[in-house]
Amino acid sequence: MSFSHLGLSEKVLAAVAATGYKTPTPIQDQAIPHVLARRDVLGIAQTGTGKTAAFTLPMLTMLETGRARARMPRTLILEPTRELAAQVEESFTRYGANHKLNVALIIGGVSFDDQDKKLMRGVDVLIATPGRLLDHFERGRLLLSSVELLVIDEADRMLDMGFIPDIERICKLVPFTRQTLFFTATMPPEIRRITEQFLHNPVRVEVSKPATTVAATTQLLARSGRDDFEKRDLLRRLIRSAEGLKNAIIFCNRKRDVATLHRSLLRHGFSVQALHGDMGQPARTAALEQFRRGEITLLVASDVAARGLDIPDVSHIYNFDVPIHPDDYVHRIGRTGRAGRSGVAISIVAGSNDAKAVAAIEKLIGQTIPFMEQMPGERETRYAAQPEQQKRESNHGRHEQRRRPQRPVSAARNENARTPRAPKPAPARNDIDNASHLPAFLLRPVTVKA
Ligand code: AMP
Repeated sequence: MSFSHLGLSEKVLAAVAATGYKTPTPIQDQAIPHVLARRDVLGIAQTGTGKTAAFTLPMLTMLETGRARARMPRTLILEPTRELAAQVEESFTRYGANHKLNVALIIGGVSFDDQDKKLMRGVDVLIATPGRLLDHFERGRLLLSSVELLVIDEADRMLDMGFIPDIERICKLVPFTRQTLFFTATMPPEIRRITEQFLHNPVRVEVSKPATTVAATTQLLARSGRDDFEKRDLLRRLIRSAEGLKNAIIFCNRKRDVATLHRSLLRHGFSVQALHGDMGQPARTAALEQFRRGEITLLVASDVAARGLDIPDVSHIYNFDVPIHPDDYVHRIGRTGRAGRSGVAISIVAGSNDAKAVAAIEKLIGQTIPFMEQMPGERETRYAAQPEQQKRESNHGRHEQRRRPQRPVSAARNENARTPRAPKPAPARNDIDNASHLPAFLLRPVTVKA
């Protein structure tokens, strides 16, 4: 099946061909004809499914006729984060090179005046985060009464970030007769309520079950001591011993932990950047670009900063912290194993709260995630540990016992690995984050047989 039967204009088809896409993805195939027929669409799809093109391509086709007036955008796309908004803008640049459309990005952290000038010129496509959009509206710099089409993207993330009241307000400010395209990866009750209130007889397009994880990704758990220095130590060993690691995103639950871990990895000589909400926009964009271009290998990120980022080829995901919300797990590991590539996602589990969070994740994804059967550096550590300590630690926790015999969820990488004994490394001092105090065996890369 090619793009030609979807009803897209010649110009858009040429742009798609120039991009190199041969066949539409399922969300594109199912959504584009309905968008072009001016129907409301409820798209249940994660990032990585091609959902951005599912709305940008028909929008470009529809915008070929008509003109924008000053301060009255014709279409509006709402995104939860600045990075996602910037990516959608890029998508318009990529597919709309021959379209001479005015596309404006209205996001926080950059100058109001420049944005105001763009709005003044007349905007065909306004891509915005909700807060900054409302700021412009309240200053009287923007009118939403000419919006013909509204896209609400990553709605469940908007919910997580507390944007739903803003979304409701914006939905009431745009004309009742506009067309609405609504994308979400999951359908919690609050999102269902919004769709019932603001979509008119929508076509529902669901491309994969909500909250399913990517089949091509090998998912594993790695047991760690509770302290952050132990987790950092384990992470370094996991990274150093990883097979085929091309690049990795390391997720933390809190912004301040992103900064701490970033500093620690830098001190240990890793090629790493950080991405969290407290960084200024230029720093965030620069970090992401460096990572995309392969100039750095590791990116330490928080969920908010990393949601939906289009980084096509990530080989490894590490959850330095098990995410508190199970949905975040699905989104995090959705960064790898994309487009038929295989990926590895390893979550560091430290203590009973993490074990509970893992149980919730397993319930959501309907799969058991096994513990790694042999930890990097384990053999050396075992020699270092006292027999009594080994016994105590290998019996540590019901969670471990329940899981021991499991195999990886997909791929047979660890087929030959042994049952985990996992004695914890016994650090000589409280902070082994400084390389000069590390035992020698932790300083050299340790290869794990997979
Ligand atoms: P998205 O879900 O919009 O974040 O898209 C995920 C990735 O798939 C992006 O890197 C797109 O460039 C790519 N993509 C989108 N549509 C297609 C297609 N029809 N064929 C191949 N790749 C695509």
